[in-house]
Amino acid sequence: MIARYLKQTQELFGDELYLSKTSNLQDKNKNAKSDLSIFCEEISECNKCSLGATRNKFVFGTGDSQANLMLVGEAPGAEEDRLGEPFVGRAGKLLDKILNAINRSRSKDVYICNVLKCRPPNNRDPLASEVEQCEPYLLKQIEIMHPKLIVALGRVAGTTLLKVEQPLKGMRSKLHDYFGTPLIVTYHPAALLRNSGFKAAAWEDFKWIRSILDN
Ligand code: URA
Repeated sequence: MIARYLKQTQELFGDELYLSKTSNLQDKNKNAKSDLSIFCEEISECNKCSLGATRNKFVFGTGDSQANLMLVGEAPGAEEDRLGEPFVGRAGKLLDKILNAINRSRSKDVYICNVLKCRPPNNRDPLASEVEQCEPYLLKQIEIMHPKLIVALGRVAGTTLLKVEQPLKGMRSKLHDYFGTPLIVTYHPAALLRNSGFKAAAWEDFKWIRSILDN
C-alpha cells in the first residue's frame, strides 16, 4: 500500500516527499457536524436565485466537519448536480489523488464545497447576482467550521471570493484574507486535467498548503 502511495505521488508530482504531523484540532467547534447538517436542512430547498428551478440536487458540501482545510470550488457540474456531492467527476478523482499526496482525504481533515450550491446551466460561470445570494451560505459554513485555511480552486473561485478581476497567476502564491480566514488560490483540478504542465506548480501550492496546515 505504501509503495502504491509513493508511486502515485511520484507520478503526480515528481520526486519530492513530504511527511505531515497530525493536524491541530484545537479551537474547533465540537458540534460542527450537527451544526452543518442542521444548516444544510435549512437551506437545501433554496430558491433565492433561478438555479433553484433548474438544479437536480442541492450540493451543500462534504467531508470532515472538524477539518482545518476547506476547499472551495466554483459550482457543481453535471455529475455533482446528479449526485448531490461536490467534485465527484473526473476533476474530483484527481483532487482525491492530490489530497492523498498530502496525506489527507475527504474524510480526513478536508471539507469540500463550492461558492454556488446549485449547478449553473451548461456549466457557465456563476453570475454576480447568484454569488451574492449564495455566498452567505459559504460564510456560515466557515463560521461553523473555523477552518485554518481556505483553498480556492481555480480562477473563478478565486476572483469570486476575493472580488478581484485577475488571472490565476496574479492570485497564486499569496496568502489572502477571506473575512478573517487565510485563503490561497490554486489551480482547478479540471485545469490540471487539461494541461498537465500546470501540475508542478500545483504541487508547489499543495506543499505550501501542507506546511501551513502542519504548523
Ligand atoms: N468543479 C467545481 O468547481 N466544483 C465541483 O463541485 C465540481 C467541479
